Amino acid sequence: MDDKSNIIWHVHKLNKKDRARQKRQKACLLWFTGLSASGKSTTANVIEQKLFELGHHTYLLDGDNVRHGLNKDLGFSDSDRVENIRRIGEMAKLFTDAGLIVLSAFISPFCADRKMVRDLVEEGEFVEIHMATPLSVCEQRDPKGLYKKARQGEIKNFTGIDSTYEAPEKPELVINTAECDIEACADKVIAYLKQKQIIHD
Ligand code: ADP
Repeated sequence: MDDKSNIIWHVHKLNKKDRARQKRQKACLLWFTGLSASGKSTTANVIEQKLFELGHHTYLLDGDNVRHGLNKDLGFSDSDRVENIRRIGEMAKLFTDAGLIVLSAFISPFCADRKMVRDLVEEGEFVEIHMATPLSVCEQRDPKGLYKKARQGEIKNFTGIDSTYEAPEKPELVINTAECDIEACADKVIAYLKQKQIIHD
């Protein structure tokens, strides 16, 4: 390990609250978790559009996109999944510090990893949204043909098939996309943000 004793945290004059106030919002991290095809990306995209139209400042971090860049050296073993989420958590924390409403859409199958991210940001900032769409529905949708490949053994460590998904115990929100359409799912989240005064009415 390199000597880090000479690296000193720089205190900036402007802080997160100032940056968020300028944008008429509170910074937060909307953390979508759920099986592949449970609707994380689709719902997060619609919410981001709605927030944009309401004049809010957002940033969407998406699983596949991050794996093409920052995390392209990581695979899908348990240890790589932990590191994947750790880096995403640190990145989301920086975006939150910029005063943004951050949306993140990653399977993030392990409770401990999500807890790690929750603990990185301030109390009340982490909004865990469990996309509780049943596996059977996700598998039937199979928009990228991944479940089929996983069932045939062509993809290993696929969440829900041969890798576990640990459902959140106390998420801030639960959304089952088999029960409501995309608009209604997105509106649930917008209503929550208003109720918690993260955005104004
Ligand atoms: P994930 O990001 O969780 O892997 P995606 O959003 O990429 O999931 O895919 C979800 C699929 O389910 C899309 O093809 C989407 O059109 C479909 N879908 C059907 N109903 C809904 C809904 N109510 N909310 C979100 N997605 C839905």
